[in-house]
Amino acid sequence: MRKIIKRIVLFVLALIFFGLFYLFVPGIWNHFVVYPRLEEQIEAVRSLRKPVPQVTSLTHYRGLMHSHCYWSHDSRGTLNEILTAAKKADIEFIFFTDHERAKLDSFPRGLYGEHDGVLMVPGTENNDLLVWPLADTVIDWRMDNPSLIKGIVDAGGLVVFPHCEEKRPWLNPDYQGMEIYNIHTDIKDERYSDIFFNTIINQDRYRHRIYRELFDEQTEILARWDSLNTWRRIVGFSAVDAHENQNIRASYLPDGRVEWLGPNANPIDTTEVGLWEKILLSEPDENGWAFKLYLDTFYHSFSFVNNHILADSLDKQNLADHFLKGHLYVAFDALADAKGFLFYALDQNDAVSGILGDEIALKNASILSAVSPLPGRYRLLRNGALIDEQAGGYAYKFTGVDKAGVYRIEVAIELDGNWVPWIYTNPIYVR
Ligand SMILES: [Zn+2]
Repeated sequence: MRKIIKRIVLFVLALIFFGLFYLFVPGIWNHFVVYPRLEEQIEAVRSLRKPVPQVTSLTHYRGLMHSHCYWSHDSRGTLNEILTAAKKADIEFIFFTDHERAKLDSFPRGLYGEHDGVLMVPGTENNDLLVWPLADTVIDWRMDNPSLIKGIVDAGGLVVFPHCEEKRPWLNPDYQGMEIYNIHTDIKDERYSDIFFNTIINQDRYRHRIYRELFDEQTEILARWDSLNTWRRIVGFSAVDAHENQNIRASYLPDGRVEWLGPNANPIDTTEVGLWEKILLSEPDENGWAFKLYLDTFYHSFSFVNNHILADSLDKQNLADHFLKGHLYVAFDALADAKGFLFYALDQNDAVSGILGDEIALKNASILSAVSPLPGRYRLLRNGALIDEQAGGYAYKFTGVDKAGVYRIEVAIELDGNWVPWIYTNPIYVR
């Protein structure tokens, strides 16, 4: 009898061991093989950086168009946490999109104004819209969406569509832009358990690479954007959709008890300090957290993908004006800093006749050109169709542009023999 019990125990232990081995093997493989190699390759690409000639007098500002703070029900992000992450990720502006707390929603609210060189603009994500009123106002969410969109746009605000993997009223005549990449959109097809076990192994050293693992090119969304742009101007931008809320955290309450938060910043429990708390909790950090297991952090989300807006000054109205002009490109800056990149048109006299987002006459578009701080593979698309592809150097001239159309560029960098998307530009509209 004893023999049988012993065998059963051994068998169960072996099962547990192999089970854990199976769950953690991909993360361990990533840690020792995949990620070090990837880091090496990324470093090699970055070392090719060269200064780029200045094509425009506008300034490059790097920032975020869709992010959340404590004002949203599903985030606890404080000014200190967000500002620290933004400074570290070299972010200069954040257009916040906090969920509403009431049907009559007054602005400004949440985080706004300039903080240590980071411009924060209050906005909202509600009714399947991202809205930045840019003025002191009240939004009445009981209105129907078409009237709401028109009212806000007529009053000088911005209205764009988030989460463009979902159905949206694409033919609405008033909205101004759409997300062409959103981290949350991208993560939907991943197995969360894989991310979880990979994170346990790799969170300290390779969290940037864990994020990279999620990346899939959003081909359907890009195709829709291209097709809409042949009809009218729709600005494309990226969204980090950061909440820093896919985690388990604990903090001490003023009465000495411990509040535990789970995914989406939902409270799990409030407990007295017992044995587990004594084992798991450490001294609270500067933000009050005494226990942290993070899948997403503000810093890693902020650095993953950015919007580069070419504007005159770091001012919310000026950034919004240039956003509407399409003076924006999307870059995966955690791969390599894209600042300095530009896509532009030259006329017959080699003078700059327009930059990304601009509308120019056919006679003034004799060359479409791009400058980049890094070499890569350039793809030129006209009305969504690939018409030219070149790889290698730093500046390209796409000559022989003899047709009106909507032209945009995608730049990829080479990692481990694969071309990885790095930059998406807004189009130049040649009429
Ligand atoms: Zn969001």
